[in-house]
Amino acid sequence: MEQKISNNKTIFTKEFTKQEPIPEQGIQRALELLQSGRLHRYNTAPGETSDVSLLEKEFAEYIGSRYCAAFSSCGSSIYVALKCCSIQPGDKVLTNAFTLAPVPGAIQNAGAVPVFVECISDYTIDLVDLEQKAVSSDANYFLISYMRGHIPDMDAISKICEKHNLCLIEDCAHTMGGGWNKQNTGTFGKVGCFSTQTYKHINSGEGGLLVTNDDDIIAQAILYSGSYMLYDTHLSRPSLEVFEQYKKMIPNYSLRMTNLQAALLRPQLKDLDAQVARWNKRYQILENKLNKIDLVEVPKRSAKEHFVGSSIQFTLTGLTRGQIKSFLEECDDRGVRIKWFGWQEPRGYTSSFESWQYISLIPDLPQTKNVLDYMCDMRIPLTFTIQDCETIAMIICEVLEDIKK
Ligand SMILES: *Cc1c(COP(=O)(O)O)cnc(C)c1O
Repeated sequence: MEQKISNNKTIFTKEFTKQEPIPEQGIQRALELLQSGRLHRYNTAPGETSDVSLLEKEFAEYIGSRYCAAFSSCGSSIYVALKCCSIQPGDKVLTNAFTLAPVPGAIQNAGAVPVFVECISDYTIDLVDLEQKAVSSDANYFLISYMRGHIPDMDAISKICEKHNLCLIEDCAHTMGGGWNKQNTGTFGKVGCFSTQTYKHINSGEGGLLVTNDDDIIAQAILYSGSYMLYDTHLSRPSLEVFEQYKKMIPNYSLRMTNLQAALLRPQLKDLDAQVARWNKRYQILENKLNKIDLVEVPKRSAKEHFVGSSIQFTLTGLTRGQIKSFLEECDDRGVRIKWFGWQEPRGYTSSFESWQYISLIPDLPQTKNVLDYMCDMRIPLTFTIQDCETIAMIICEVLEDIKK
């Protein structure tokens, strides 16, 4: 049962955190690996290619990049991406103020300093503020985060990077399967980083995939990931000579992916485009229904943005903070779990830039704060049917009508 009635009110009973099962083929391969015990990517039988190597090759092909290296998480791959682009302690990195905690975490891990850029009402990065801060901070790095899958005008981003000589690194944790103007995210900058954590678009519990076209970057990334000098077994790599200048200079950070993870991911990658279509169908239903509600605005997206609707964000207009809290509580009572970045204290996955106090200088970002104070964020797991999405929109509508009274 997806719903029940209590006090004449519909209560939604499915879990917002429940993902679909791993495809049968992935489960079978995982069982084989468990039987053989060959879980480590460099523990292969003679003549065998590891599941991780195969995944790297297939993912690079899917994205349209020359190379891919697998990691233990997206956050660790971002950290390594910064290192491969020669970041030095104290260097400044422009990044979105509206992002997830592992992004400033990766910058801090690299000894660098985030410079937060404001967010605009469609939840993408503010290009005017980006350009101003590129000049005022003198940063040489820009780590763009496509937070919740929102992709800004990448033609404009590319121009700004060129004009201000910014090394672009992309956090694509929420855009796997998405792109801008027929070009996949992860291929606009020097390096792109993807997540295979349970809540993203392919699920291995934890995991990260780093892509690049650059021989030197991939050689360093493979060494940092912890290759134990077995980099020759990678299918996705440049010629062995490229490793020579780095192999004694790059430390082993032990951030590898296991064969078990890769075995679960390979069949999911094959299904990804079909899954994206299913997400977007659900997104469209929710977008249409929510936009019909008086106090709700789902920002328009550019026709060039090929997003993946694995979550939806909307802005509540004309409500006070108090009313928004009542709205969230009432939705929660009716089984509709909505996240809000307006809470004073960080909770769950939602922490705002003001909570990252390990950064010595958190700037005033009134515009981002204002956007986040009125923005609601909801997951759309594929375990929800079209009918479920209609029920959720109806509940949100009813709750808002009650609050207006
Ligand atoms: C999940 C996420 C990450 C980090 O991914 P992990 O694999 O959990 O390290 C980075 N950025 C964004 C926007 C995310 O949503």
